[in-house]
Amino acid sequence: MASEKQAALAATPSDVDGPTIFDKIINKEIPPTVVYEDDKVLAFRDITPQAPTHILIIPKVKDGLSGLSKSEERHFEILGRLLYTAKLVAKQEGLDDGFRVVINDGPKGCQSVYHIHVHLLGGRQMNWPPG
Ligand code: ADP
Repeated sequence: MASEKQAALAATPSDVDGPTIFDKIINKEIPPTVVYEDDKVLAFRDITPQAPTHILIIPKVKDGLSGLSKSEERHFEILGRLLYTAKLVAKQEGLDDGFRVVINDGPKGCQSVYHIHVHLLGGRQMNWPPG
């Protein structure tokens, strides 16, 4: 399977605008390991964890939000909700000493799935600068 970077660089316009693997996760065609769910957002464990805790938080409705760079004023509420959910899940996961949230955007940001998502990473010491 291509590396995350290769996948990010290979994304085409249909990957950006069309359905993504996260649609299958939302409708449970591909059953995720859900850690939090409400009517607006879904949080589930990343299939390729980059830290002991690695959770993705996504809106259940994409509404044009393939990535943060496509956000508009109408997305204020859902953007806030994604971050607030990251905080709730961090608490639920016991990440009391700290955690990181990441939003990759576009090829140079190493985004490979074009349905906005917040990565919540924790359970180990993070480094800076990121790769
Ligand atoms: P990158 O692939 O570089 O991390 P993204 O920020 O777009 O780029 O992240 C997409 C994430 O989705 C990846 O961390 C990947 O492991 C995760 N992922 C892809 N398919 C699944 C799946 N079926 N279940 C859970 N996580 C998935």
